[in-house]
Amino acid sequence: MDLLKECQGAKRIGITGHVRPDGDCVGSCLALAQYVQKGCPQAQVSVHLETPPPVFSYLKGYDQIDSTFAEQEAFDVFFVVDTTPERIGDACLYYEQAKKTINIDHHLTNKGIANVNLVCPNMGACCEVLFDIMEKQYLDADIALCLYTGIIHDTGVCQYSNTTPATMRRMADLMEFGFDFPKVILESFYQKTYVQSQIMGRALMESIRFMDGKCIVGMIDRKTMEFYNVTPKDFDGIVNQLRNIKGISCAIFMYETDLLEFKVSLRTDEKVDASKVASYFGGGGHMRAAGCTMKGTFHDCVNNLSLHIEEQLMQ
Ligand code: 5GP
Ligand code: MN
Repeated sequence: MDLLKECQGAKRIGITGHVRPDGDCVGSCLALAQYVQKGCPQAQVSVHLETPPPVFSYLKGYDQIDSTFAEQEAFDVFFVVDTTPERIGDACLYYEQAKKTINIDHHLTNKGIANVNLVCPNMGACCEVLFDIMEKQYLDADIALCLYTGIIHDTGVCQYSNTTPATMRRMADLMEFGFDFPKVILESFYQKTYVQSQIMGRALMESIRFMDGKCIVGMIDRKTMEFYNVTPKDFDGIVNQLRNIKGISCAIFMYETDLLEFKVSLRTDEKVDASKVASYFGGGGHMRAAGCTMKGTFHDCVNNLSLHIEEQLMQ
């Protein structure tokens, strides 16, 4: 895909990513916005996203992200990155009205329903997909930092199985721009606030193993969220911690979003395809990391998930 050609003649260009934006989503949106603005200086480029976690405020353009979704006029080109257009929340109005829609993603479950689509499921991060299609003369340290942030978040600092030799080469090219990468990794990925550490401790302490110790589930209900005064943005990393437990093939973390409704995160090893499990419940994602929203009591949800996990574990 030739990004700048696709934007040729466009006066208003909008960009969005998924609800509950994470590092790859924020990095992708902000990198793309800066790149397109440089390549199409005459266009008005804006990013529309739910308020991202403040830990990403070091990225250029973070302060200009619109989370009000008050803009009414249709976009000439509207980009959806790091997700299918079904998971963009309030931005769906922009998607529907846009003269041209472009979807750039790396999710296995993305079927490519926009006007122009580029989906690369073999890439660990959407920021990798973007890096490959960006003309290198337009890259600068600010764009590189956004892309670098996205890649470290979706690959767990190049640790998960979605990391490839090509990922490392892209990381090397980005490092050439000379930003303070150990600080970025520490402050945006590893560092947790005191209360985030407490809530993680709570989820781990109350987690339950089942299926002969091959699965584990941790849950935070709304009462606990109120007690610690935390929001879902504070739950990053909990499901990975559960997955790190010895003997676990499938880790589940869920939190209550409404009465009898849970947001579910899945992390699996090679024995379970997480995206397949999540897809049964209207969600999606990757082989080793996926998610969905489920209705019912905590036990209903765990029972329903178990059926599909067990089916794969027994094979
Ligand atoms: P997480 O568990 O970190 O929220 O998400 C893991 C992966 O699954 C991410 O790539 C995310 O985009 C995807 N994912 C999480 N929840 C959903 C969902 O409800 N629907 C879809 N399609 N993908 C999801
Ligand atoms: Mn991603």
